[in-house]
Amino acid sequence: MKNLLLKQVGRADFERLEPHLKTTAFAQHSVLFETDQKIKHVYFPIGAVVSLVVTLSTGEMVEAAMVGSDGVVGASAALDGRVAVCRGIVQLDGDIIVCDIDALKSAALQSPNLLSLLIRHEQAVYAQAQQSAACFATHMVEARLCRWLLRARDLSEGDTLNFTQEYLAEMLGVRRTSVTVVAHTLQAAGLIKYARGKIQILDADGLRESACECYGTVKLHYERLLNGRRD
Ligand SMILES: [Zn+2]
Repeated sequence: MKNLLLKQVGRADFERLEPHLKTTAFAQHSVLFETDQKIKHVYFPIGAVVSLVVTLSTGEMVEAAMVGSDGVVGASAALDGRVAVCRGIVQLDGDIIVCDIDALKSAALQSPNLLSLLIRHEQAVYAQAQQSAACFATHMVEARLCRWLLRARDLSEGDTLNFTQEYLAEMLGVRRTSVTVVAHTLQAAGLIKYARGKIQILDADGLRESACECYGTVKLHYERLLNGRRD
């Protein structure tokens, strides 16, 4: 199982869920759900990367959290969240295991372990969103872009990311010209190579050095909450 969360589901719980799981390919920019809409399915990404974005009345959207094969999207609905509080959008195309919402809810109600796993995951997503708020208010665009590229790289397990500068600017909530300047600086430093709508990561260690602390902080939250790391 390529989804780390599903991997942690106990055997009996997984057997209950299995008949309701369906692997589906999703194209980049597919919208899984809209803000204020009822969530109908739960999504366990196995190749795709999904962004949870805040939408504004002016049409702008800014990313609050990024979820991939280390998590699940829409699980709050199975925990009785009634409507989506953000938009779920596929940021990098790939496969997602789609699960029936009632099946997950019923399995969670029968299993304290599964319920606990889902709650811990929601807490990890919350930690990511609050980190994004602090990051937006405090950190420079270059450090934020490095953080963002590293997270996308971890989830997509690849060094080539299909992102246009417009899209990056939108996700980071900055002007496109700021992204152009920063991308140029990172390219000149040999950390990335940027060509029409594609970013190739050449030096992940260098990106880590240039990223703000938020990358490491979010990683640690995930490890503590979902991988049982204690320290
Ligand atoms: Zn930051």
